[in-house]
Amino acid sequence: MSQAELAAVHTDLTAMYDKLKAAGLKLDLTRGKPAPDQLDLSNALLALPGEGDYRAADGTDTRNYGGLAGLPEIRAIFGDLLGIDPAQLYAQNNSSLEIMHRLITLAWIHGTVDGERPWSAEPTVKFLCPAPGYDRHFAITQELGIEMIVVPINPDGPDMTVVKELVANDPAIKGLWAVPKFSNPTGAVYSEEVTRELATMPTAAPDFRIFWDNAYAVHPLEGDAPSDPDILGFAAQAGHANRPYVLASTSKITFAGAGVSFLGASAENLAWYGKHVGLTSIGPDKVNQLRHARFFGDADGVRAHMRRHRDLLAPKFSRVLEILEERLSEAKVASWSDPKGGYFISLDVLDGTAKRTIALAKEAGIALTAAGATFPLGEDPHDRNIRLAPSFPGIEELETAMDGVATCVLLASAEKLMQ
Ligand code: PLP
Repeated sequence: MSQAELAAVHTDLTAMYDKLKAAGLKLDLTRGKPAPDQLDLSNALLALPGEGDYRAADGTDTRNYGGLAGLPEIRAIFGDLLGIDPAQLYAQNNSSLEIMHRLITLAWIHGTVDGERPWSAEPTVKFLCPAPGYDRHFAITQELGIEMIVVPINPDGPDMTVVKELVANDPAIKGLWAVPKFSNPTGAVYSEEVTRELATMPTAAPDFRIFWDNAYAVHPLEGDAPSDPDILGFAAQAGHANRPYVLASTSKITFAGAGVSFLGASAENLAWYGKHVGLTSIGPDKVNQLRHARFFGDADGVRAHMRRHRDLLAPKFSRVLEILEERLSEAKVASWSDPKGGYFISLDVLDGTAKRTIALAKEAGIALTAAGATFPLGEDPHDRNIRLAPSFPGIEELETAMDGVATCVLLASAEKLMQ
């Protein structure tokens, strides 16, 4: 476009934006949480296990203390779904994020099972952070002053040339954050090859850890979710059994605030975790675990339930993608992910315009996830990534919000190109 054409487009977009602002919207695309109709799918849980039903299959009285590893029946169901031997899977309370935080703080205070000293006694601790990634992961490592190294992420996982080179040479690199399936926010699905490389690659640190946060393991937007590569098995075969910590939860399966979380790990890691966690709790909420086991019955029960979530979520994602296509494809100022599962769409705008786009949207009453949130320290080096969360709003609200976002993307791009 010539400068004159661009100026004309800018004038039109400004008029469109002024109209958007005048509409007095109050919309929110920040919330990566289930919508009320999704929560309703699990309302039967509210009446389970029911009066008089409190004994687990092995006779455990779930009302009482104990059972740190969690109920065998819920571990069996999720072991099946995650491809993990239930003996290697603990079932805990509602938040897998809490387990991740605990795993890192325990390493910080006590050291890991094969570390030489507590991480806090190391001169420097670094983590690899495939990004765009999950802001709450980065917040945990930031709080401890762990240095975060951004690694580019591809549709099949992190750039392994970069990862392998870094971990082989720097003993300060103790960990890597990973969301291996339908990743937050790019939708990446780690391939079997990437998974195997992560599990088996040589690392300079003797206690390198992969935080394999499989938060969206059974959350497809099309068909059924693929099965998971066996990261624990690959690592064990290569002599690195203690490297992966596998995390998952029912947060986006049943109730986000009242679910069950899981930790899959080597026997040695689980014993270490159990020893420390046993000091803070005499056992998890087994009544809730029993309720979940009764509700699902078996792994197929979970799969069937996730198809119902899929049927509610897929139209929202499709609509967002259609609006992005209709409004932005011709201008060629943005690209976006087309996730096959999970909770997010990752939108990349022209370099240097994400902050401005988000600010324009905010002024027009549309809340978007903060600029930079998908990168460590909230700093997107290219100021280009915006995380869209289509799950929570109703479809009409979503359409209005996305149309407004598209106007903001175009206006911010026109401003940038006129500079
Ligand atoms: N991990 C990822 C990648 C997430 O996106 C989320 C929630 O958005 C969580 C973990 C939170 O899991 P939980 O509710 O089990 O703590």
